[in-house]
Amino acid sequence: MSANDDLLARSLRHVWHPCTQMKQHQTWPLVPIERGEGVWLYDVDGHRYLDAVSSWWVNLFGHCNPRINAPVAAQLNTLEHVMLAGFTHRPVVELSERLGELAPRAADGTRLGHASYGSDGASAVEIALKMSFHYWRNTGRPGKQRFAALADSYHGETLGALSVTGLAFFRDAYDALLRVPLIVPVPMPERPRASTTSPAPDAPCCAECAVPALVALEAEFARSHETIAALIVEPLVQGAAGMRMYHPDYLRGARELCTRYRVHLIADEIMTGMGRTGTMFACEQAAIAPDFLCLSKGLTGGYLPLSVVLTTDDVYGAFYDDDNARAFLHSHSYTGNPLACSAALATLDLFADDDVIVANRSLAARLTERALELADLPQVRNFRHLGMIWGFEVDTVDPEFSRRLFNAALARGVLLRPIGNTVYFMPPYVIDEAAIEHLVVGTRDALRACLAA
Ligand SMILES: *Cc1c(COP(=O)(O)O)cnc(C)c1O
Repeated sequence: MSANDDLLARSLRHVWHPCTQMKQHQTWPLVPIERGEGVWLYDVDGHRYLDAVSSWWVNLFGHCNPRINAPVAAQLNTLEHVMLAGFTHRPVVELSERLGELAPRAADGTRLGHASYGSDGASAVEIALKMSFHYWRNTGRPGKQRFAALADSYHGETLGALSVTGLAFFRDAYDALLRVPLIVPVPMPERPRASTTSPAPDAPCCAECAVPALVALEAEFARSHETIAALIVEPLVQGAAGMRMYHPDYLRGARELCTRYRVHLIADEIMTGMGRTGTMFACEQAAIAPDFLCLSKGLTGGYLPLSVVLTTDDVYGAFYDDDNARAFLHSHSYTGNPLACSAALATLDLFADDDVIVANRSLAARLTERALELADLPQVRNFRHLGMIWGFEVDTVDPEFSRRLFNAALARGVLLRPIGNTVYFMPPYVIDEAAIEHLVVGTRDALRACLAA
């Protein structure tokens, strides 16, 4: 047995891998990764894979980026961790200030200037839900206890976050444990639009789709706003639902309705934030600010687990009191970890120093132009793109399609992780021309191999 086989066997014996039916690994080998550099992951035998999904949507500036490594190493040799209750430190202060500056501002100039930290995306969602509920309790509306969410939403897998997740795949087994959300319709056409070889990248879904969804949202609010604490949305792109994209008009309308009916708006930008949709935050494209902004994933450039909820003076003020019971007593052991904060600060430096949002526009245009070759394949439908996300559906009745495409792409040095029949690219922002070529050719050949079989 080689060292490699031994590692795989030990992993299967003792590591319970996430989002996996472990029995499938009887026929589907794990991939043992040894190191990463830029957009590439290298396995123990030296094969390389283009990380076209940014390691589950977290990586922004490539693996082992020296410009993130160095500040994290410096922080490591200064202060690795201290509890944040009763103590503070420079990285967490600086990060909170900078995020408050960057985050969208409400029309009246209100900032999201108060930062509460967690470790994973789901814990940020928990914080936002609890804060919203507790805000209404503290302000004399204890009846506002329910949460509204979009159909097919995904907000994470802890019980609170799963309660506002609409996707049956994640939710069904635990339904008995979950609170019942008010599910409101998604601003989207019933079925994906027909294939087009000339997609309009800036209009992934038409504005008209927003209208019926807003009518339904208003009806729900009119009926039950006195019992609704918050509406939670994934702004512009529902990632786990299959990179489904909708028009900013919906966000604009939802913001107005939330304000009018006194319902908080929680923007879960865990995936869409940090430049992924072409602006620093997706909410900017609708020129709105939420009451709670949840960030994680790319926040540390994909280095370390960190999440944050940014909120307003109004929310913060409702907890500021002599009474402990009115305080937000939520905590996690690693809240505001200095190493994770230093990775986040290095990530923000990269955005600023390299004018990444602007640079990504031409990078995205080049990738789109090249990827249109895939849109021309007869089985490819609904090719779409927003910012640094591309997606399309593949016409096939093969129930094993996603797994087979994963394997076929891997054999060609591309890491894809299709969601059902939806294939998507979400590459790190440092993908260059040669890697784009590798991605498109590898995906094309893998698709052809799967669809011919
Ligand atoms: C990934 C994700 C989450 C959950 O984040 P974890 O770090 O996996 O807990 C929540 N919401 C959205 C939109 C996500 O994409």
